[in-house]
Amino acid sequence: MTKLAQDVLIAALGFASSLVTALLLFAVNHFFGFAIHTYSIYLVVPIGAIAAGFAAASGYHLGARLVGQRPSRLILVNMILTAIATYFLVHLLNYRFAVVDGVPLPDLEPFSRYLADAVSHSSLRFGVRGAVIGKSGDIGAWTYLFTLLQLLGFSIGGLWIYWELSTIPFCDRCRRYLKRSGEQTRFEYDADRFAATVSAVLDLLRAGSIDAAIERQSSSSTALADSKDGFKSTLTTSQCARCHVNHLRFEGFRRDGKNWINVPKAEFESYLERPVKLAPQAGVLKPA
Ligand SMILES: [Zn+2]
Repeated sequence: MTKLAQDVLIAALGFASSLVTALLLFAVNHFFGFAIHTYSIYLVVPIGAIAAGFAAASGYHLGARLVGQRPSRLILVNMILTAIATYFLVHLLNYRFAVVDGVPLPDLEPFSRYLADAVSHSSLRFGVRGAVIGKSGDIGAWTYLFTLLQLLGFSIGGLWIYWELSTIPFCDRCRRYLKRSGEQTRFEYDADRFAATVSAVLDLLRAGSIDAAIERQSSSSTALADSKDGFKSTLTTSQCARCHVNHLRFEGFRRDGKNWINVPKAEFESYLERPVKLAPQAGVLKPA
């Protein structure tokens, strides 16, 4: 498949997911009276719009993984434009199918008027309960700001997916995503020991002593997770199925409740022509 054909396929799937998202947002609003995409936190964090933009752009993600092609800059522009179009399509659908006292809304007012009202009313709803911020005519500036935030939210959803796709190891030569070929994880409960491991492994990796780094991380602590362990480090390897170039990534994490959060600066990645071998078995057991 040529690069252009791949881009067209990715764009087509992105367009499809955007259309489905717009229809879903419209249906929920139409039948349940809840406009998910206008939901905000503290008035200014358009969480609903970000989620909607994320859902709308999910087809790009699917398409990129399907063809094994990282989206081009052209696709990024396409993603943002589609996200904005999705936002307006949801409003257009709401307008087209709204009925006021038995009269279809399009017979009563133009779309531009409806849009201004819809946006300002959704911003008013978030005012302090019972306190009236003002009549919709008085909040012109706020209406524009709110619309801008909504559009930004939709775009952020798309950008997020683009960013996520750009962090997956990729072979520039063959223009393909790499396949995960191995993982070596070590858990640690002692913060100082963890810091020492990370710094030693990073030093070795930066010096090009890949095998020594793999050995150092492997023997640092246990491969078996313990509820007391607050830290872990991982070495992951990926390979290009076509030219067999290898990719090695080292990451450090700390536990935050049920999640593992990346430790800043405890990161390294490199492409290697030669094969990378991780430890075959689980590492040494934690001393009793
Ligand atoms: Zn390759």
